Amino acid sequence: MAKKAKPSPAALPSVERLVGDAALAPFCEAFGRPFVTDTAREVIAEARARLLAGKDIVTDADALAVQVGAHIETLMAPSLVPVFNLSGTVLHTNLGRAPLPPEAVAAMAAVATAPANLEYDIAAGKRGERDDHVESWLCRLTGAEAALVVNNNAAAVLLLLNSLALRKKVAVSRGELVEIGGAFRLPDIMARAGCKLLEVGTTNRTHGRDFTAALEDGAALILKVHPSNYQVAGFTAEVDTSELAALAADVPLAVDLGSGALVDLSRYGLPPEPTVAETLRAGADLVTFSGDKLLGGPQAGIIVGRRDLIDRIRRNPMKRALRLDKITLAALGAVLRLYANPEQLPARLPALRLLTRSEDEIRAQAERLQAPLAERLSKIAEVQVVTCMSQIGSGALPVETLPSAALALMPLGGKRQLGGALKRLAASFRALPQPVIGRTSDGVFLLDLRCLEDEDGLRGQFAHLDINNR
Ligand SMILES: *Cc1c(COP(=O)(O)O)cnc(C)c1O
Repeated sequence: MAKKAKPSPAALPSVERLVGDAALAPFCEAFGRPFVTDTAREVIAEARARLLAGKDIVTDADALAVQVGAHIETLMAPSLVPVFNLSGTVLHTNLGRAPLPPEAVAAMAAVATAPANLEYDIAAGKRGERDDHVESWLCRLTGAEAALVVNNNAAAVLLLLNSLALRKKVAVSRGELVEIGGAFRLPDIMARAGCKLLEVGTTNRTHGRDFTAALEDGAALILKVHPSNYQVAGFTAEVDTSELAALAADVPLAVDLGSGALVDLSRYGLPPEPTVAETLRAGADLVTFSGDKLLGGPQAGIIVGRRDLIDRIRRNPMKRALRLDKITLAALGAVLRLYANPEQLPARLPALRLLTRSEDEIRAQAERLQAPLAERLSKIAEVQVVTCMSQIGSGALPVETLPSAALALMPLGGKRQLGGALKRLAASFRALPQPVIGRTSDGVFLLDLRCLEDEDGLRGQFAHLDINNR
């Protein structure tokens, strides 16, 4: 049989021919001819490049038109999509942290499509303050005199430092010079805020007298940072908020709580976290915390505390660059109102509901899902129900974990190619129409069901598993 000659670029159809193809008529109708033309040009350029690289391609116009259509569908599909978080980390930063309650979603939708009194005082008929929509609730729930909100807690810390200690010294314990993950490293934030970091004490032990020395050295602010994602154990000493407050009588004491619980979590059987209210009562002048960690709301950074200091922070021109939009404010306001009734909170606030689910309930769910998944994966992996530990995540209580249950998937076919088999298994779950994110641990692929609320939805995904991509 004669070897087929490789097509030349001249065999490719023109852009006009491609755009005029019947298969692309509905795309021209839906997305406009210029957009389809651009996409067709990209597909032809790609085909030409592959051809010149010696690869086999189709040059048939109808077939290329189908490729253009597929490319447009990919471009038009949203990039940000819901996933199943079965990673075992409840407040997973990479997966968007706290899921919002329906009250927040309704509040967001209501203001999203209509004008709103964002900076307008309806009663007075004049300009208002955007933070007024949440300030009184934040004060009520924390006992603070005043409150201010920005884009996230990193912004809150940056703004606080820049407003109160520009070109001045800020004292921080060496044991608290944390990196929270991503690009939030306290020394870097400090430098960008224009402050001079005064390191106090040692990595494992810092004493009151170390802070006294720092104050004598001219510290204009003391910052205490909650060691969110690690624990200093062994021969350690730290200076607690009330002792710091007594020492820092003449300079502000700010505490970055990170997660910042608004209620005592131990009442729900969770490991205790310092609350914002008790930190203020202990003598902090200002407390910063996130909106989307233990609070269970939208991404936001919150500063509460002394009125005079909050006013100074609010006057910083950077506040304008870091402010919240109306949609986030609406969500935050709705979530704060749920805190009026702490009794109902685990039922109504998704983050707390997930954190407080019992191991028994999760195990029962795993047992219901085990058989259908095992059947689907019959020649690929064994599926067992196992006990595991979930993490709260987002730096809250890093060493504390919550007993949970998982579906453990063990690839069949021995240990030899286990690593590759686990990777393929994880990839096939990520490739589902609603991607499923699990975690690999000790030779098994784990689906921790603590965060699974839509059980039928997950079961429905199993049929779509592409188990032949091996
Ligand atoms: C999480 C955290 C931050 C950063 O908060 P974001 O809301 O993620 O910007 C800052 N400080 C501490 C102690 C944290 O735990």
